[in-house]
Amino acid sequence: MLRRLLPTLIIFTVGFALLLWGLATLQSIFAQERDQAREQMEASRRALRQLAHQALREELGRQLEATRSLIRRAAKDPLLDDERLLLVEGGEQILPRPIRFRAAPGLPAKELYSTLRSPDTNPAPREPGSPWAQRLGLRRRFVDAVTSGDLHGLETAFRDLLTHRASYVISSALDIPYMLALLDLFTALSRPDPTLMRRLLRDGFDLDRGQHMRSLQRSLLLAQGRFSLGDFSFLRDRILALCRAHGVPHHDFSARASAPPRRPLALGPAPPGPALALGGSYYVEPAGARLFGVRVSLPEVVEGISARMRRMGLLSEADSVVLGAGPGEGSPPLPGAVTKSASGAMRLLDDVSLQVRSPRWRALHKSISARFRLKTMLTVSVGLLVLVIVILAASLQHRRHRYLQLKSDFVASVSHELRTPLTSIRLLAETMQRRAGGDPRVGQYPLRILKDVEGLIFLVENILSFNSIDRGRFTLRPSAVPCDELVSDLQEELASATSARVEVRADALDGEAVWGDPELLRLLLANLARNGCLYNNSDPVVLTFHLRRTRGRALLSVTDNGVGIPSREREKIFDEFYRSPDPTGRGVRGSGLGLAMCRRIMKLHGGKIRVARSGPHGTTFELDFPGRSPDA
Ligand code: ADP
Repeated sequence: MLRRLLPTLIIFTVGFALLLWGLATLQSIFAQERDQAREQMEASRRALRQLAHQALREELGRQLEATRSLIRRAAKDPLLDDERLLLVEGGEQILPRPIRFRAAPGLPAKELYSTLRSPDTNPAPREPGSPWAQRLGLRRRFVDAVTSGDLHGLETAFRDLLTHRASYVISSALDIPYMLALLDLFTALSRPDPTLMRRLLRDGFDLDRGQHMRSLQRSLLLAQGRFSLGDFSFLRDRILALCRAHGVPHHDFSARASAPPRRPLALGPAPPGPALALGGSYYVEPAGARLFGVRVSLPEVVEGISARMRRMGLLSEADSVVLGAGPGEGSPPLPGAVTKSASGAMRLLDDVSLQVRSPRWRALHKSISARFRLKTMLTVSVGLLVLVIVILAASLQHRRHRYLQLKSDFVASVSHELRTPLTSIRLLAETMQRRAGGDPRVGQYPLRILKDVEGLIFLVENILSFNSIDRGRFTLRPSAVPCDELVSDLQEELASATSARVEVRADALDGEAVWGDPELLRLLLANLARNGCLYNNSDPVVLTFHLRRTRGRALLSVTDNGVGIPSREREKIFDEFYRSPDPTGRGVRGSGLGLAMCRRIMKLHGGKIRVARSGPHGTTFELDFPGRSPDA
């Protein structure tokens, strides 16, 4: 059973393995396609990200470049608004200017101002001859000139005062209250020149050799740290009052001087290149020992980049550039991305991550995965389907074999049962033929019975032999069997096969022999010869046996002059139980086992049988025996 199924099983297994290999290859192609599609998508995302990053770099650089000259000016001029600017020099923050006041008890500046404001007081210097003592002397001259209305004396005293102020640097804590008291006195007692006041209060004086004397507005702003908040506020109000009185612009001064205290920014160490500082609120660039910076609105800059990329057709309406911490599509926009790194408040611009968000990528990603899943499902389904088909085919094959086996067993057991009665009938018919052969009343009946019984006995023998060969129960007893003996035995055998005359021709058989089991070889040739007679409408029936040897093999051909076998039937006729539609039209009976058995007999001998030629005038079967010498 297993032996029979083995070729089918091997074919199924190899076919199934090939199919599995094919499906696995297909699946790996699908996986490659998916990876390529994802890689393409990732590459275009990367390119857009790089483009966006480049645009960010350019935009921030442009904003700083546009502000750089303002930074330089604001570093010198405290009246300029430095809110958005950043300048660090040698580690010290210049802009925005830190605003802090002295925590001094009392109000020394206010007191000094009050003392000097009264024309009648005349404070005595602690160190006679010092610049401050000289300054107090000048005040005296000035007050005297104002109170006496001595215009020439006033002019001289004022010029000397300015010259002294340009020549000696006196602490702002003394100088500013001093000057304010003097100017208030001047304003109260006389009518100072507005240009002079404007220069003193706001513009300052350009002196010889490129020197500049600072105005009071600027001096107070620069000397903020020397005063307590109370003193500073007092002096500021005095300056503002004087400005108002003399029509001197003061709005910027007022704004700067009214700003609340401001601590230096926690910038940390300077970065090696362009960076974002303080959670992305400043863009900074180092330049030697200095660090220039400008306050930026990163979300606005990024939104501007999105809009520009949309205009250029690089992004669709639904797409946007966002600041993101990682490569994840859905990561939230800042501030997480541009916060303090371990090294401080700076984050190098190169480390800032920009993401391009696009719903179409998400959709594309999903559709790539969905397509891959679908293809995988199809591959698996095909695999399962093939498995089911293989199982079904195997089971059908098994059933078919089982059915054929049952059929053959049944036929064999029926045949076995028929053997004894048929032998008895043959004996009786022979006896009847012998005893009443000449009686005209009996006629040809005993002979016909004998012929039919012979035919039936041949059929039964055929079936039983086939069964035992098929089951492997036959033990081969090979010997050199002379060919002419085999052929001459047939004459008698064929008498029961046909009523036509039979002419058996032995061609080149003299002295020839084939190596094989004599009983099986006789059965083989009897089947071929009987078929040659049965499927034949000629009279006489001519059967020709011819032997030739080629390349050590013995080729025995059996040729009849029968009706022939259609070419499409030439292989099928060797299948067990297969019978062609009766070609003779005489209703020839048979089992369909004869040629199947012939093929098995040849196989047992290590040889082959085939239809070598066939046509309307006859058929030639060729028996190919392996080259064992008959003398061996
Ligand atoms: P059976 O003769 O019992 O039908 P076989 O296996 O001997 O079974 O033959 C199978 C079929 O081959 C026959 O039914 C017949 O149609 C065809 N056949 C066999 N031998 C010949 C032949 N010599 N000439 C024509 N047809 C043949």
